[in-house]
Amino acid sequence: MTLIYGSVSSLAANPIEKKPFYHFFPGTKALTAGSWSCNFGCPWCQNWDISKSPPPAAGDYVSPERFVDLVERSHCQGTSISFNEPTLSLEWSLDVFDAAKRRGFYNTFVTNGYMTPEALSLLTDSGLDAMNVDVKGDAASVKKFCKMVDAEKVWAVCKLARSHGVHIEITTLVIPTVNDSDATLRDIAARVARDLGRDVPWHVSGYYPAWKFIAPLTPVPTLERAWQIGKEAGLEFVYLGNLPGHRCDNTYCPACGTLLIRRLGFAVVENTLDAGRCSQCSQPIAGVWRKR
Ligand SMILES: [Zn+2]
Repeated sequence: MTLIYGSVSSLAANPIEKKPFYHFFPGTKALTAGSWSCNFGCPWCQNWDISKSPPPAAGDYVSPERFVDLVERSHCQGTSISFNEPTLSLEWSLDVFDAAKRRGFYNTFVTNGYMTPEALSLLTDSGLDAMNVDVKGDAASVKKFCKMVDAEKVWAVCKLARSHGVHIEITTLVIPTVNDSDATLRDIAARVARDLGRDVPWHVSGYYPAWKFIAPLTPVPTLERAWQIGKEAGLEFVYLGNLPGHRCDNTYCPACGTLLIRRLGFAVVENTLDAGRCSQCSQPIAGVWRKR
């Protein structure tokens, strides 16, 4: 029985770029809610203050209808369930998504992807449009650090979501000594390309020491190496997170190299896409670019 239905630990109107989604309604805002706890045990959790806490006996209750009212009132275009693991808030998410869809909003999940096919079906039936899935490393390190997690199940959910028409972006938090070897990064990049598609965006982002993990910050050259590995694996869109203004945080046409979307932090400062195509060579760019 869920203990966290509508128990909201954090609430913010965030740029969709912050989730991160770079190929899904760029420049829009999603009202983002988190709750408490997690089904993983990653010792470096960047949101450990809510993910490692049990729900309070009496928290702030936000009904699905009230949440969707707040989406409208805060001038957002959609919802995002994030901050802690949203799968734990499945029942609330389903009701939020139903209500949001009825009012023309999009729905997103920022997740570790560790859910059953049945849970995914419930979400897609209720109007899940996009998922950013955190792929944390190879099978052995995920099992060791994240508490006996089977990484194969995460890949299976990503594949299944793609087949349901859910927009997918993948994030890897690059953590020194855990998943920063060339072999591990190559393995993840190749798997994204082969199992999901070369047009699926891969975000590699820098870690900072948190909770029980004290390895130093991810060095920028490590992130740049990860970017190179992603490109060598054939991925069309690889992004460096947490490095505002870096050229690898922009979107370029995979056919002709034209700069299509220029970002600064979480802001879109230039977007020359023409109805989802490159403005120079008309190459279709994978993504969801307009509000349906
Ligand atoms: Zn082009």
